[in-house]
Amino acid sequence: MAVTPMMAQYLEIKAAHPDALLFYRMGDFYEMFFDDAVNAAEALDIALTKRGKLNGEDIPMCGVPVHAAEGYLLSLIRKGFRVAVGEQLESPAEAKKRGSKSVVKRDVVRLVTPGTLTEDSLLEARRHNFLVAYSEVRDQAALAWADISTGAFHVMPLTAVRLSPELARLAPSELIVSEGASFETTRPLADEYRIPITPLGKASFDSSSAERRVCNLFNVSALDGFGTFSRAEISAMGALIDYLEITQKGKLPLLQPPVQEAEDRVVQIDAATRRNLELTRSLSGGRTGSLLAVVDRTVTPGGARLLEQRLSSPSRNMDVIQSRLAAVDFAVDQSPLSQRLTEALRKTPDLDRALSRLALDRGGPRDLAAIRNALTQAEIIANLCTPHELPQLTANAVSSLLGFDELLALLDTALIAEPPLLARDGGFIASGYEPELDEARTLRDEGRSVIAGFQQKYAEQTGITSLKIKHNNVLGYFIETTATHADKMMSPPLSETFIHRQTTANQVRFTTVELSEIETRILNAGNLALEIEKRLYTGLSEAILIQAAGLNQTARGLAELDLVSALADLAIAENWSRPKVDNSRTFDICGGRHPVVEHALRQQNGAPFVANDCDLSAETGAAVWLLTGPNMAGKSTFLRQNALIAVLAQMGSYVPAERAHIGLISQLFSRVGASDDLARGRSTFMVEMVETAAILNQADARALVILDEIGRGTATYDGLSIAWATLEHLHETNQSRALFATHYHELTQLATKLQGVENATVSVKEWEGEVIFLHEIKKGAADRSYGVQVAQLAGLPASVVARARDVLDMLENGATPKIQIDDLPLFAAVAPTQVKTATSASDTLLDTINPDELSPRDALEMLYKLKDLK
Ligand code: ADP
Repeated sequence: MAVTPMMAQYLEIKAAHPDALLFYRMGDFYEMFFDDAVNAAEALDIALTKRGKLNGEDIPMCGVPVHAAEGYLLSLIRKGFRVAVGEQLESPAEAKKRGSKSVVKRDVVRLVTPGTLTEDSLLEARRHNFLVAYSEVRDQAALAWADISTGAFHVMPLTAVRLSPELARLAPSELIVSEGASFETTRPLADEYRIPITPLGKASFDSSSAERRVCNLFNVSALDGFGTFSRAEISAMGALIDYLEITQKGKLPLLQPPVQEAEDRVVQIDAATRRNLELTRSLSGGRTGSLLAVVDRTVTPGGARLLEQRLSSPSRNMDVIQSRLAAVDFAVDQSPLSQRLTEALRKTPDLDRALSRLALDRGGPRDLAAIRNALTQAEIIANLCTPHELPQLTANAVSSLLGFDELLALLDTALIAEPPLLARDGGFIASGYEPELDEARTLRDEGRSVIAGFQQKYAEQTGITSLKIKHNNVLGYFIETTATHADKMMSPPLSETFIHRQTTANQVRFTTVELSEIETRILNAGNLALEIEKRLYTGLSEAILIQAAGLNQTARGLAELDLVSALADLAIAENWSRPKVDNSRTFDICGGRHPVVEHALRQQNGAPFVANDCDLSAETGAAVWLLTGPNMAGKSTFLRQNALIAVLAQMGSYVPAERAHIGLISQLFSRVGASDDLARGRSTFMVEMVETAAILNQADARALVILDEIGRGTATYDGLSIAWATLEHLHETNQSRALFATHYHELTQLATKLQGVENATVSVKEWEGEVIFLHEIKKGAADRSYGVQVAQLAGLPASVVARARDVLDMLENGATPKIQIDDLPLFAAVAPTQVKTATSASDTLLDTINPDELSPRDALEMLYKLKDLK
């Protein structure tokens, strides 16, 4: 059946984008049809209507206004849709010129996907938005990732097993892989991490065309200048660029040259450890409650993004760590300077993101102003710093702020203070910058005042004092009087001057030759002014983009200064200290604290956090601490705080401790026994064992391992044996520095057997049968577990607690659990009063009789005796 020309065009464009919702531009709306309409209406909770028919069936339709489209786009992207934005590429008038039946030309100008966003409203300002490409070429694999909203571009080779931890580190918004085998093998992982995954044709990953693509993007003839890359790395970079070409429809974002990363550059932290330590996300998934949330004192979006990146990837490079620490040290020493920097940084807009929008031609006058304002602040910041003798890192950051005098002067003179959002409306270029523009504006504005004068003149001429000159989009300028004056106006002599245009219910409208002429002049001048502004906008935008590489450096420098000041501020406010990091295998923390628990305590009830020492120095003492103690005493807190201190130290921050001396850590592992992982459909114990196996197979002499209640997920003896063997293996084979918390007291004997294992416990006080937690870690084994007391604190019924005490007493006096359980009468604990009467005389009497041997008469006599005893 024939379809309308418009529908034919729609179907053609839709066929080219089967995986995306098609936003089809119709005037002031984006409209969706067919299944797209049904899906979008449901996802956006908007009305589903219909428009026309196809093959006799109604065509479902829904639409969103263009001016509100960003909000709808955001909802759709969050719900996992991809959106193809189909725009009108010509005006209806232009289409008509081609033929009376012609449909306005339309095509998709952009494919909006989670990994390719640039709009502020679609992005989280304080987080990166990474698009990741994973490629396997024979036995090599590689990841390339980019944030097109900032231009960051990275690549690294990796072994396939490292994919999971790297994805956990980067937390990308979208993953692209080659269709076929790669897609099938990576999909479960992407699903687990809830990363949208997009399969791309194999051609996108072909490494020879990929190389060309990368070279073209950076305008170089070979990649050697950027490093030596494996075929897998080139393939991953090429696929990423190809995907950007596909989604941005040829307009390529401003990517910085690829930074090659290596697996051994950062501390290896796998996904389970990351989750467990709640570095950047808490266990519940949000930022609140994470280490990041508690330590973040940055004041710019760029600083916040850098902090998250650093916290996710603590360094293993001694020089890098030392130079970052030296910078924080300087900022702590010069705290008045840091505070002034922070004040200046607070006023600094997001340079990176403004720049990337301009590059993609998605920017506006406000982005120009953002760059001007950022450069103004950069100059102020540089001036604040220059008189000081700066540490290397700070000096480098400051030098990246300079050298934009000309650009800044240009933007300063060209732009007004607070320009509007859209270039198309004009009004953002300052007067005095371009004479031609000033002239056009004067003409336009003078015209307006001339018109205001006309009103007075015409009122006098006609004697109608209520006469007004008004403007609307249909008539332009017109003279309006009430209908009562119509006759007078339309008869000579007035009709010679006033030309009738329109009569409405109460008004009549006229024009004059003179008014039309002035109007044309105003219109022409206004249009001319707009055109000049658009031209100037393009020129300014180009002037900025020519310096994009330098401006990216500036953005990086500003972020670095923000982070350094923020870390110094944190260190001072929280009384943190500079850690000593070296190449030894020391791990000596004095007075360590858990920043998140400390923060939570302060918020809840102001209770102080009890600081604790931890010494796992392999060279001088025990590298493994075996920690026993009751539940709720603070074992998990202690374990994690030491891991967090290590992370903070190696990301280049001060640490929450009086003193900390840390020999470089290469890998960090943290596991909690039997955490529920029903989502993955594995039994909790299986998960625990898989994770423990991963540690025992991977941890080396530079690893820091934290095991909390390993073996808890199975029967007592199994669990004990597994915990025992794990501890021995860690100590003897892995030789890692480790903290091992357990409730198996039997394990404490190991400390006497293994030289590098030391017992530690959390002190508690017992007072009138109740337990008081002191949260103090001390050497030695726990004397008992206080489980019953903890159960009492938790509100178990008194009868249950009393009964548990009895059972515990019997067990501690040597009874085996088997005999004990056989001896226990069913429900004994439920009826303590009955148990108490068991010692009575009637019971003693009852014990002597055997009902089977009693004659009926004896039985009756016995009943009388029992009744007497009562
Ligand atoms: P465990 O692992 O021994 O069961 P947790 O480490 O979960 O115990 O600690 C239980 C609670 O005790 C924490 O939520 C915190 O409120 C408090 N706590 C733990 N360690 C300390 C400490 N060092 N100082 C103050 N309170 C602490």
